[in-house]
Amino acid sequence: MDKNQILKEFSSDPEKYYNVKLFQEQGFIRKSCSKCGRFFWTLDADRTLCPDDGTDTYSFIGEPPTTKRFDYTQAWKQVEEFFVKNNHTSVSRYPVVCRWRDDLYFTIASIVDFQRIMGSKVVFEFPANPLVVPQTCLRFKDLENVGVTGRHFSSFCMIGQHSVPNNQGYWKDECVDLDYRLLTDQFGIKKEEVVFVEDVWAGGGSFGPSLEYFVRGLELGNAVFTEFQGELGQHTTLDQRVIDMGAGLERFAWITMGTPTAYDCCFGPINEKLYNTIGIDSDSEVLRKYFTEIAKEIDHYDDLNQVRRLAIKNAGITDSQLTKMITPMEGMYLIADHLRTLIFAITDGALPSNVGGGYNLRMMLRRINATISKLNLKLDIDDLIDSHIDYLKDTYPELDEKREDVKQILKIESARYEESKVHMKKKAEKIREKGTPTVDELITFYESDGITPEYLKEVDAISEVPSSFYSKLSDLHQSEKKKAITELPLEKLPETETLFYKDDPMEFEAKVIKVFDDQVVLDKTSFYARGGGQEPDHGSIAGFEVVDVDKHADIIVHKLKDGIPNEGDIVQCKVDVTRRSNITKNHTSTHIINTSARSVLGSWVWQHSAFKDDDHARLDITHHSSLNDDQVKQIEDAANKMIKDNYPVKIEYFDRGTAEQQYGFRIYQGGVVPVKSVRIVSIEDKDIEACGGTHVKKTGDIELIKITKTKRIQDGVVRLEFVSGPNAFEYVKEQEEESKKKEQQAIAKQELEKQREENKDKAKEKIPGFIEKILAGESLESDEISNKGKLCFTSSENYDDYFNQNFGKKLVAKDDTAAFCGIFEAGPTIRVMIFAGEKSGVNAGEIAKEIASILGGSGGGDAKFAQGGGKDTSKKDEAIQKAKSMILG
Ligand SMILES: [Zn+2]
Ligand SMILES: [Zn+2]
Repeated sequence: MDKNQILKEFSSDPEKYYNVKLFQEQGFIRKSCSKCGRFFWTLDADRTLCPDDGTDTYSFIGEPPTTKRFDYTQAWKQVEEFFVKNNHTSVSRYPVVCRWRDDLYFTIASIVDFQRIMGSKVVFEFPANPLVVPQTCLRFKDLENVGVTGRHFSSFCMIGQHSVPNNQGYWKDECVDLDYRLLTDQFGIKKEEVVFVEDVWAGGGSFGPSLEYFVRGLELGNAVFTEFQGELGQHTTLDQRVIDMGAGLERFAWITMGTPTAYDCCFGPINEKLYNTIGIDSDSEVLRKYFTEIAKEIDHYDDLNQVRRLAIKNAGITDSQLTKMITPMEGMYLIADHLRTLIFAITDGALPSNVGGGYNLRMMLRRINATISKLNLKLDIDDLIDSHIDYLKDTYPELDEKREDVKQILKIESARYEESKVHMKKKAEKIREKGTPTVDELITFYESDGITPEYLKEVDAISEVPSSFYSKLSDLHQSEKKKAITELPLEKLPETETLFYKDDPMEFEAKVIKVFDDQVVLDKTSFYARGGGQEPDHGSIAGFEVVDVDKHADIIVHKLKDGIPNEGDIVQCKVDVTRRSNITKNHTSTHIINTSARSVLGSWVWQHSAFKDDDHARLDITHHSSLNDDQVKQIEDAANKMIKDNYPVKIEYFDRGTAEQQYGFRIYQGGVVPVKSVRIVSIEDKDIEACGGTHVKKTGDIELIKITKTKRIQDGVVRLEFVSGPNAFEYVKEQEEESKKKEQQAIAKQELEKQREENKDKAKEKIPGFIEKILAGESLESDEISNKGKLCFTSSENYDDYFNQNFGKKLVAKDDTAAFCGIFEAGPTIRVMIFAGEKSGVNAGEIAKEIASILGGSGGGDAKFAQGGGKDTSKKDEAIQKAKSMILG
C-alpha cells in the first residue's frame, strides 16, 4: 500500500482523521510546512516550518526545554507514574527474543508483545486495557550509526501506550490528550514547544492515521491509530481498533538532560567509567558543538561519513581533537550500546552464533572486541556488565538474575573470536587476491568459515557489504523452515475427533469417512499423528496395518498397508501399545532432559528441536560448546533423579494469555502455539511447557534414561541422543556385554603376546640347529621357515628382529650360495630383511625396495644385505607373497 497516497487522502480531510479534542480546546493551529509541505499542528502562531526543517532543531543540546533533569531510569519512573495515575496498568517488558512469533527473531516494537499469529492473521491479546510497557526492542538495521550519530541504538526502550477503544480503553482524543499532558505536566515542557505532525501507518493489511509529536526537532513519540483494513477507497473499519503509541525512552531522558548525545544520559555510571578511561571531560564544549552539528545534518545526507566531515568542519574540530576525543568517544558509545543489547538478549535466552538471530549478537560482540583492540583500551568487560546491570536492575530485575550467565557467554564468545582471527586473516588475504567475491561466495565464506562481510570490509578485502547479502541469507534460512505437505482434497471433511486427548483407548471402533488410495480418514481416532517431533502411532485398522499417521489442519489421515476398508464401514482399530508406550516415555524424557540440561549447563539452554521415536530419541539444545563427559553424566544423573522422585506429569488447558502471564515464555520450548487454548504439560515446577504430545502419568513410569551420544551439530546447538524405559535397560545390557567382550578380547590378546615373546626367546636358541639343517638340505617347514635348498623365507610371528638378523647373517656367512628373507612386525610397521650370499643369485636390495613400496614405505641396502618396511598393514599378505616368490622363485 502506498503510504503517500493514504497520507494525501487523510490530510485532505483533517477534521475527520486528525483534529482531536485537545487541538480545539487548546487552540492548536494547523499549518503546512513552507519547505516540505507536510501538515503539522502547533500553538506557535509564528511557526512556518515542520520540526524536521525547523531552525530550533536539536537546540535542546546544552539548553534543555525542561526545568527538571531525568536520566534513563528516572525518565521511565516519570512516564510510568503519569500513566498509572491515569488508569493504565504498567506491564513488565516481554522478552527481546520473540518466542511467540515464528516470523521474528527479536521483539522490534512494543505492539509485537501483544500480537499473535492465527493462520495468516494477526490478532491482538492485551493482558490489560489500557496499558503501558517499557519494552526493550532490538533493531540491527543501523548498526553503523550506533555511537556516531548520538541517537542511534541497537536496542532501545520503547514506551508502549496501548489501548483498545471499549468501556475500559479509549481512542484518539484521550490518547493525544494524555501524550500532550505527559510532556507538559509531567516533564514540564512548554506548550508552545510541542508540535504534532500528520502521518499515516500501514502494514500487515491494516492502516490508519498517526500523529508524531516533536519537541525542538526531536521526535519523542508516534501515536498510531490502527483503524482500517482493505484497499484505500474501499476500506472498512477493523473490528478491533488499536492504539499503538510508541515513544523512545532514551529521547525523553535526552531532552531533559540536554547532553551532547543521547548516550550520555542513558547508560548510567558506565559513561563516567568510559570518560575516565580515555581521560576527557564529559562537559566539553567541543563535544557539545560537534554532536549538535551531527544531529542537525544527519537527516539531510545518506552518507554518514559526509555528515561527519561536515560536522568536523562546522564545529571547528582539530585533527588532534578528532583522534583524541571524537573517535574514542564513538568507540566507547558503541561498546556501551552493544553490551547493553547483548545483556538483554542473553538474559532472554539468545546465544551468539552464525545462524538466525544469533548472527547479529555475534556481530555485535565482534564489533566490541575490534573496537577495544583498535583503540587499545584497557577495559574489563565483566566490570562494564556489572555497571549496566546495577544501573538497570530496578527497572529490569530479571537482568540481575542472569548476570553471571551473561559474563560466561561473552567470555567464551570473545575467546572464540581471538582463536578464529588467524584463520580469518589468511582467508581474507586469499579473497583480496582473487578480487571481489559474488554475494553467493560471501554467503559460503560466512556459512562455512564464519567470516562476516563486515570483517572482510574491516580488513579491506572487499570495499562494501552488498545490500542483498542479508536478505539473501535470510531467504536461505527461511526456506529451510517451510516443509512440503502433500495436498489432499480435505476441505469438506469434518474435524477428526482426537481420542488421544480424551480417554485415549488403545482399541476403539470408528467410521471410515473418506478413503484416498492407501490413506483413510476416520470420524474419530486414538492414533497419534506425527507432530511436535513425536513420531506417529502404528497398529491396525480393520485388520490392515497402519504405517503412518499425519495431521492436515484438523483432519487426521492414516496410511495403511496391504489393503483398505470402504467408505462408510464401521471398523475395529488397534493402536500398537508397546510402540506408543515407548514413544511416550521418550517424549516425557525429552522434557526431563531439557530441564536437566538447563540446570547443569545454564539458563541459555532452550529446546532447539526434538525427535521422539519408538527406539530412540534426540533433543537439540541451544548451548555454546560441545559437552564433556562430566556434563553428560551430570545431565543424565539429574534426569534419573527426576524419575526417582516420581513427580506427577500434569496436563491442563489454559487461555494462551493466562499461560504466558503465569509461566512466562519458557513454555514455548517446542515453538509457537497457534491456538488460543494452550495445553500445558508440567512436571511440578521443574518443567512447564506448551506441548501437544503424549506423556507418562508419573516420571517414575520412565524407569531409566540413558544418554547414548552427544554432538555439537551446528554453531550454538548441541544434540543429545538418548533412550528411555525398556530401551534404556536394553542399552545398558548391551553396553555391559560390549565391555565384557572387550575385556575378554584384551585378555586373549595379552596371552597371545606373552606366548609370542616366549616363542621368540626360544627361537634364538634354535638358530644354530636351523642353520645345520638347511646346510644339510633338510626342510624347516614345521618351524614355519620355507626353503628351497639354501634359499629361505619366513613370515612367522614367532620370529622377531633379533632372530631374523642373526639367522640370516650367520647362514650367509657359512655358505655363500645361501640367502634369507624375513618379514616381521615391529611396532606399527612391517619390516623386511634380506641377506644374500654372493653366489646365491639373489639381489637383497631389489627385494627390499619392491616390498617396501608395496607397504607404502622405503627400503635400502645393497645386493648382499638390505632392509625396509612400511606402515600399510592392509598390504601385509601381498608383501609376503611377493617376497616369498622373489626369493624362492
Ligand atoms: Zn518540512
Ligand atoms: Zn513436548
